[in-house]
Amino acid sequence: MPKIVLMNAEGWPGIEHSAQRLQEGADPLDVIEEGIKLTEKHPGVHTVGYGSPPNALGVMQLDASIMNGDTLETAAVGALEGIMHPISVARTMLSKLPHVMLVGEGAQRFALECGFKKEELLSPEAKRDYEKWREENLKGPVVDIFKPEDGKGSHGTIVCIARDDKGRFGGGVSTSGWDYKYPGRLGDSPVIGAGMYVDSRYGGAACTHCGENAIRTSLAHAMVLYMKKGASVRDAVVEGLQDLKALKGGFQGQVVLYAVDRNGEHFVARRFEGGHECEYLFWTDGMKSYEKREAVFLG
Ligand code: ASP
Repeated sequence: MPKIVLMNAEGWPGIEHSAQRLQEGADPLDVIEEGIKLTEKHPGVHTVGYGSPPNALGVMQLDASIMNGDTLETAAVGALEGIMHPISVARTMLSKLPHVMLVGEGAQRFALECGFKKEELLSPEAKRDYEKWREENLKGPVVDIFKPEDGKGSHGTIVCIARDDKGRFGGGVSTSGWDYKYPGRLGDSPVIGAGMYVDSRYGGAACTHCGENAIRTSLAHAMVLYMKKGASVRDAVVEGLQDLKALKGGFQGQVVLYAVDRNGEHFVARRFEGGHECEYLFWTDGMKSYEKREAVFLG
């Protein structure tokens, strides 16, 4: 069975390492955690971990989740403050707690009790950009800057699906979420089954961009279920896109869908007229290095 690492474009600081580790026979969850950590701490990635835009009050709140496709064990942290590696906090939960989701203060307490250190996550550039944004936008209550149908502001995430030669799947996601989001906002990344889901019997799926839309459609889990019911990996993604198109009202934005089936076939597509092109990163056995590929635009 082919070994596979699939990441979205933000994974560039980590994919080489992850591919190498998978090639050496590392566990898919190690491959995922180590690759995502390299992205989380890289100051050149402005949507994941250090150096990303904070929430509307200037506080960095990070979301992450991890899942073992063999056991369906999973863990997520949301709105975690002051900790450089939310993916590792989620991973640590797998071996320390019976819970699958921790948010805010509780997530930070858990991290500190487990030996993670509090760090400054706002880079000088992110702080400068935030202050400019605040000056121009925050004139009163934070709620006044938002409207249900208006999704202005950008997002970004790292997603990673890895599969080893025994067919074991793992998935991981980490993000700072929506730039200058309402404090406490969670996107799809820490919501298991929305931003990511893996089940080694059928495959794995993940989503990036408008997390609210992925939550409304339970999108990652839906794509895995379509594969369970016999859809090809391409058809599973197309069905996921149909689910997105059935949404009515609220904010609807670009969503990119990533799926890998149990045989190692993958398909990545994006939805939304007016959205932008999206590259993803793919490595499998026999490739000297990972390849950048383009998500198919499916309307
Ligand atoms: N899906 C992420 C979120 O909504 C952001 C992104 O992938 O662009 O938080």
